[in-house]
Amino acid sequence: MAGWVEVADEVYQRRYDPHDVSVCVVRGAHGLLVVDTRSSHREADEIIADLAALGPRPVRWVVNTHAHFDHSFGNFHFGPGSAIDVPIYGHERVPEHLDTYERPMLARWIADGAEPIEDWRAVVITPPTELVCERTSLDLGGRVVELRHLGRGHTDNDLLVHVPDAATWLVGDLIEESGPPMYGSGSFPLDWPQTVASLCNLLESGATLVPGHGAPVDAAFAALQQADLQAVADLVTELHAAGVPPERAVEAGGERWPFPAEGLARAVEDGYRHLDPPT
Ligand SMILES: [Zn+2]
Repeated sequence: MAGWVEVADEVYQRRYDPHDVSVCVVRGAHGLLVVDTRSSHREADEIIADLAALGPRPVRWVVNTHAHFDHSFGNFHFGPGSAIDVPIYGHERVPEHLDTYERPMLARWIADGAEPIEDWRAVVITPPTELVCERTSLDLGGRVVELRHLGRGHTDNDLLVHVPDAATWLVGDLIEESGPPMYGSGSFPLDWPQTVASLCNLLESGATLVPGHGAPVDAAFAALQQADLQAVADLVTELHAAGVPPERAVEAGGERWPFPAEGLARAVEDGYRHLDPPT
C-alpha cells in the first residue's frame, strides 16, 4: 500500500496490509509518537524501518488504541528491553482484555497451525507500560497530545489520540471507513453509539478523524456512523424485548440492519448478554 500520508500538520497515517490497519505518527520537537504496532514482531519491524522516512527524530512514545491483536501484537519490539525501548500507553483495561481474548486466540491459532505460523509463534503479548483511565496528556515538544477514553464501544478499552493543534483525532476502531464497524471480541454494541456521540460533541469544526482501518473521515461521516450504530443498538434491544431468540435475531431484523448481516451475530450475542447479565 502507499507510504506515509500527512493527514494533518505533522500527523501521518500509513495503511498496512493485512487488515488495512492504520499506523499513525504525531511528530513533535522531542520525537515521534507512534499509534498502534500491528500484529507481530515482523510487522512491527516493518513500521520501525518505515519510520526513517519521517526524519531523524526518535520514537519517544507508543499508544495502543485498543487491545486487539492487529493493533497491539507488535508492542514487544517497541517496549522495555527492545531496541526502541519506550513507554507504551494504553487504557487500563487493555491487560485484562489481552488475557481474556487475545491470549487464548493466539494459543488457538498456534495450535491450529494458522499462517503465518512463525509470526504467531514469535509473538510476546506485551501490555502497555502506562495505563490510562480517562485521560492524560503528553508533551511532544511544541505540541500537546491528549489521550482520551470516552466510554465503551468497539471494546471497553478504546483510547483516542487527540491532537488539538491539528484538530485531528486518531480514533482506532471506534469508527471504521474501509468496512463496517467491527463487532469483534469484547465489544459493547449497546454503549457504542453513545460513546461516538460523545466524540461527535467534542469535534472541532473541520476536524479530521483517522480510523483504525480506512481513510480519514470528517464529522459528517462520524455522525452517519453514529446513527447506524444507534440503529443496531435499538434493533438489538427491540428484538430482545420481543423475545426473539439470539440465533434468530439477525434474520428477524431483515432489511432494518444498517450493516451486512454477516457481521451482526456478534452484536446480537454481546448485546443480549448485556441485557441479560448472568445471575
Ligand atoms: Zn479492533
